[in-house]
Amino acid sequence: MTRAPVMHFGSAKRAAELKFYLDSSENFKPSPLFLTCCRFAGLQSLKCAIAGKNLYLRFSCSTGDAMGMNMVLKGVQNVMDFRQTDFPDIDVMGISGNFCSDKKPTAVNRIEGKGKSVVCEAVIKGNVVRRVLKTSVEALVKVNMLKNLTGSAMARALGGFNAHASNIVTAIYIATGQDPAQNVESSHCITMMEAVDDGKDLHVSVTMPSIEVGTVGGGTQLASQSACLNLLEVKGANREAPGSNSWLLATVVAGSVLARELSLTSALTAGQLVKSHMRYNRSNNDVSKVSS
Ligand code: ADP
Repeated sequence: MTRAPVMHFGSAKRAAELKFYLDSSENFKPSPLFLTCCRFAGLQSLKCAIAGKNLYLRFSCSTGDAMGMNMVLKGVQNVMDFRQTDFPDIDVMGISGNFCSDKKPTAVNRIEGKGKSVVCEAVIKGNVVRRVLKTSVEALVKVNMLKNLTGSAMARALGGFNAHASNIVTAIYIATGQDPAQNVESSHCITMMEAVDDGKDLHVSVTMPSIEVGTVGGGTQLASQSACLNLLEVKGANREAPGSNSWLLATVVAGSVLARELSLTSALTAGQLVKSHMRYNRSNNDVSKVSS
């Protein structure tokens, strides 16, 4: 998980001096100060970005089974307090300076990752594509290329190279007590499809660099959300391997996105999207109303 305070200096030279100091591997040591805020918080890396007289420090930290925004905030505060005795001219303007970046569509999360970075892949046999998805490997590969890759490039998408990842991310976040506003960056996803085995079968993958989930803290204690986490067998803190419950939940998110990417892209190739919308969404049936 990441947090990036913004610091103001009297000159760009002073901001640059601290950047060069921190960029040197000799000076960067994972800080034990982080552990003083919580035993599950561990500083992993630090990325510095300068803008005039201001320096942004993007702290990346492990957070056990918690999503971790609050935990990391406390750790960063400890480091800032310490740094101010070492560098008295540092003026911390904001403990969170938007280079983190939380709940905004940004390239930094797409490129550097935030939360859990997951790649999920599957090979779908050609006969399953025909029998269950009612389409062909060739049609799926083509529509994926034209819609999810080229179409998104035409729209100058930041992280949205997919059919409807945010529908699934948001639904799971609400059901399991996550922060639904984080669907902005958690839905960054590139969906890829390729014909394999001499064109007979389909290889499909989703690459999701910033899935932000936790199985402790936040809304995970609420009754229904807690029941959903129980169903998935990831509720609470994992005592033997802290962090493995939240990692498993992140893979559940990516796996579910993969399944629904296949489902919607198949419906598009088979021309069923409008038909099913009219049947399920505009009828009296009480079904979920989603669109892409
Ligand atoms: P967040 O940082 O995600 O906003 P909290 O501020 O509630 O969530 O922090 C998580 C809390 O859960 C911390 O107080 C931490 O000590 C506690 N905790 C207990 N077990 C674990 C675990 N396995 N991983 C992470 N946090 C844990």
